[in-house]
Amino acid sequence: MDLNPGKAKDTTATLDGLPPDMDRALRSETAEQLKGQWSRVRHRLQQEVGEVEFRTWLRQISFGGVDGDEVTVHLPTRFLRDWVRGHYADKLNALWQTENKRIRRVDIRVGGVGTASTLLADSDEAAPAVTGTEVAGAAPRSADRPDTRPEAARPEMAAPLDTRFEFDSFVVGKPNEFAYACARRVAERPSSPGFNPLFLYGGVGLGKTHLMHAIGLELSRRDTAPIQVAYMSAEKFMYRFIAAIRSQSTMEFKEQLRSVDVLMVDDLQFLIGKDNTQEEFFHTFNALVDAGKQIVVSADKSPSDLSGLEDRLRTRLGCGMVADLHATTFELRISILEAKAARAEAEVPPKVLEFLAHKITSNVRELEGSLNRLIAHANLFGRPITLESTQEVLHDILKAHDRRVTIEEIQKRVAEHWNIRLADMSSARRARAVARPRQVAMYLAKQLTSRSLPEIGRKFGNRDHTTVMHAVSRVTELIEQDADFGERVELLRRMLES
Ligand code: ADP
Ligand code: MG
Repeated sequence: MDLNPGKAKDTTATLDGLPPDMDRALRSETAEQLKGQWSRVRHRLQQEVGEVEFRTWLRQISFGGVDGDEVTVHLPTRFLRDWVRGHYADKLNALWQTENKRIRRVDIRVGGVGTASTLLADSDEAAPAVTGTEVAGAAPRSADRPDTRPEAARPEMAAPLDTRFEFDSFVVGKPNEFAYACARRVAERPSSPGFNPLFLYGGVGLGKTHLMHAIGLELSRRDTAPIQVAYMSAEKFMYRFIAAIRSQSTMEFKEQLRSVDVLMVDDLQFLIGKDNTQEEFFHTFNALVDAGKQIVVSADKSPSDLSGLEDRLRTRLGCGMVADLHATTFELRISILEAKAARAEAEVPPKVLEFLAHKITSNVRELEGSLNRLIAHANLFGRPITLESTQEVLHDILKAHDRRVTIEEIQKRVAEHWNIRLADMSSARRARAVARPRQVAMYLAKQLTSRSLPEIGRKFGNRDHTTVMHAVSRVTELIEQDADFGERVELLRRMLES
């Protein structure tokens, strides 16, 4: 099912990390390959030493070239060169060798382009051809997945964009169509009046982060002049800011942020109560908007409901386009499941999809996780997915969702069904007309909630756990003996579960 028509652009090439222009890539194969390798080495190095160390010592490292079995990397000062030689030479060697077996030595020198003015250390080391280089001829490389993220347009402080979060993989329905349209619009024409800032809000797992990444991916893949996109969580923003204060590099921090074309900050609610960071964000925000740059922000609430955020910031956040992602509907959940199953090329019976869409209602992430687990399980054991296997495989998840049924609800439904007073669920009356429904309610409480026997007893007028135990076994017996009774209990159970 294609709910995103009008997206005829061939994205398969970019999805695989292939450069749009294969010809060019083939002609300059070696240079592209080396750049790709360097980009991966740099990325791995960053991962291995950690953000803080990397930022302190290695941020300005740049690629010099390869001569035979020797790689040259540059650092802007002697001090940095000596430090890197002393501390990271072995690591660099090892990383290069996993990328390219030919390399025997890494020469660390002063010079190159990585001088103090290189604020965006990645910007001169484009690696759009990361996977393409392998397709085109393949230097030996590590078994790890290649890093296909569009690092080219990524300031070093920003988080990488997740290539799964494309516009194409976002399923559009009533609850999210407005937010989707706004995101699309910003990706097509950033900084248009009326859409700056774009403020996306909604509950957990409804697609805010997905849409932000989609905007970033779309923009960083443009054929026209590269656009610097920085995506980060508000939390990261704060840590970066604090680290900058500690290392007395706030000027640099500011400059870096202000040099991007699009700044996206996710989960802004995190800044509530963090006054200094809010202040900094406010100034960054203003500087960027004044310079005609695009801001995209997400939060769990609308600007006006984000109490605890400074008034002036809230006002400015609400000045552009505010778009909310509503809770999913059953239809949207079905569409999402269908799309994900199709993407995974998995055969999932419609009944199972309906079951999942019915059961897991709050969060698309969980819905997706459940489906993935089913698919993985089916592949692993070579068995088809059925309703039975679904209930088995997702036992724990389904149980967690069933937990939402409360004992109070059970009591209410059961009392209604037998036409007795709710108060009689807790009363001491022992007449069968009252006692039997009460037993059914205890039985259902045991079946449908994760409450313990004593807990259940307490909710039924402080009864003992043995009373609950007795109720459970009595009802179980009756269900077997009396078909009519069994059906009533089953009906109640289904009503409570839905
Ligand atoms: P949020 O940031 O709002 O908490 P995310 O964007 O992280 O939520 O979404 C959670 C997961 O659900 C992601 O894997 C995302 O791809 C998926 N998802 C959410 N909404 C959709 C949708 N409409 N279509 C496809 N996938 C979706
Ligand atoms: Mg998110």
